[in-house]
Amino acid sequence: MADTRIRLTIVGGYLGSGKTTWLRHQLHEGNFTRSHIIINEAAEIPIDNTLLSGASGLSVLAGGCVCCEGKLDLLKELKCICDQRSGLQNGRQRIDHIILETSGLADPASIVTLIQTDSILIRQIVIRETIVVADAVNALEQMQVDALGRSQIEAADQIILTKTDLVGHEHLLCLSASLAAVNPAAALSAAVYGSDVKLPPIPPNTALYELPNISTNVRLPISAVQLDLGVTPDWTAFTVWLSALLHVRGCEIVRVKGLISTPAGLLLLQAVRNVIQSPEVLPDNSVELILQNKIAVIGYGFKKQDLIKSVQYFSNPG
Ligand SMILES: [Zn+2]
Repeated sequence: MADTRIRLTIVGGYLGSGKTTWLRHQLHEGNFTRSHIIINEAAEIPIDNTLLSGASGLSVLAGGCVCCEGKLDLLKELKCICDQRSGLQNGRQRIDHIILETSGLADPASIVTLIQTDSILIRQIVIRETIVVADAVNALEQMQVDALGRSQIEAADQIILTKTDLVGHEHLLCLSASLAAVNPAAALSAAVYGSDVKLPPIPPNTALYELPNISTNVRLPISAVQLDLGVTPDWTAFTVWLSALLHVRGCEIVRVKGLISTPAGLLLLQAVRNVIQSPEVLPDNSVELILQNKIAVIGYGFKKQDLIKSVQYFSNPG
């Protein structure tokens, strides 16, 4: 049974990181067809309508960041797009993707939580991924001094480094390694003026930049662990385990992501902080078998062995 919900991609990143340039280029290349673009500006700024070319629809939410004071506007707009979509005859310019370009002030994880906790939207929208654009010139300082800059990187499924042509090779390597240390699960790539460019491979032992504690929470070293759930995981037991984990240790868990085969099909499961997103059913042939039934957990202060033991206990009690 295919998942017919509309996909949502969140495009986040600091002010001036190059989100709009990147998005415009993607549209120009035809990478987001049948999509509706929502642009959020925290301030009342006129936007550039050239974005329209390539998108099936465009809305602008100005005058409030949708992760905080503009929340209600975003929920209203998303419901409106979903309603319009279900009112259309099948096949008639039906959009299947919403791209939300956030304001530079937004914490993408808060937007994920907002949508996932809305009882109407959760049945109509599935959050596909969070893309965070970070510029190679300023991203380090943003991660070092601003908790928001750090949160944006932590929330990413994909980090796109921009302006890589403006920095030296050493800095690019150390920055890439530091981004990977903050969010080991995110895919890292680079773009200049929106076009993909190659990132040099990060040699082992590349020096990391120092990232001081900036949050009010005590920051312990970040760990990433991959849990293997076996060939035929017990989906019910696993979800009970995951809910318990997030309930007890939610503030220490940054991301959970995995692919699990269930009686309903292959599920893409994700959680940001302590909110589990409603799982997306993927076509069976869409991923390699090797990735199935493994989940990655990223967070602070837990011991890998404890987590492995705990999930084993839940999968094989007794
Ligand atoms: Zn906000």
